[in-house]
Amino acid sequence: MVEAAMRMRPEDDMTAAPARSEESGAQVDIDHVSIEFPKPRGRGTVVAVQDVSVTIRKGEKFVILGPSGCGKSTLLTAIGGFIPVTGGEIRVGGEAVRKPSMKRILVFQDFGQLLPWRTVTSNVTWAIRKRWPKMNDAEAQERARHYVELVGLGAQADQYPNTLSGGQKQRGAIARAFAVKPEILLMDEPFGALDAINREKMQFELNRLWSAEEEKVTIAFVTHDVNEAVHLGHRIMVMSRGPGRLREMVDNPYVGSPPHDARALQLVEDLRELLKDAKT
Ligand code: ADP
Repeated sequence: MVEAAMRMRPEDDMTAAPARSEESGAQVDIDHVSIEFPKPRGRGTVVAVQDVSVTIRKGEKFVILGPSGCGKSTLLTAIGGFIPVTGGEIRVGGEAVRKPSMKRILVFQDFGQLLPWRTVTSNVTWAIRKRWPKMNDAEAQERARHYVELVGLGAQADQYPNTLSGGQKQRGAIARAFAVKPEILLMDEPFGALDAINREKMQFELNRLWSAEEEKVTIAFVTHDVNEAVHLGHRIMVMSRGPGRLREMVDNPYVGSPPHDARALQLVEDLRELLKDAKT
């Protein structure tokens, strides 16, 4: 890690009183959480998430897996503070989530997440300055360059987003997310719009990036793809729909294993069976 990043200690955080949870990823407590949306024309409510309780451990890669419409994105967005819960509470690092924060970063599927009028590096520097307004320019730029290199975009560092491929844009968004050292990185099918080859490549890269950080970031990753879940998640939360509930928590000792590992493939099959039931 570059010197600037190594020097980055909690006492350098000028935006908030230093808290222990800022030293690395934070634990997330999802405590009896329900989330409802009003139906159009006052016709009652849709229950998107019902009474979910689970703890995302500090510094783990946690996957939320389930069929389409089971409330995965809704739960993830609520962890980010982008929508309110209607019941229960979500706490990040012990503090109740009430609104969005630069400490909880969302990366999603869309290729249009980088600011189009800024280069790749400038997108990352911009976010670093927002996160630590008093960090000096040289340090912010050094930190930005470090993360741009780390995601493999060194050669595209000075390019604008409209000159990048979809995969490169996602790498840029991920560089920006890691660079601000979030308490939790929220990823909503971030590789969902990539072709199969690039998708597998990015899954591998995400594992590599997470491992490269000395202080592990907590990642919550939403997917409906079972192979992706097994490749990425230390633990996999399987949800069922109608309404969205916690179906099962699965420990995954095969995280990061090669795609053809027989035991990982068996877990993929087991999860597929679970998901068949989860749809009903
Ligand atoms: P998933 O991410 O698992 O595909 P979502 O969280 O997007 O599922 O959606 C869960 C349920 O909540 C769905 O029935 C969806 O239609 C509903 N829903 C999601 N967002 C809204 C919203 N803003 N207003 C009304 N209903 C919503």
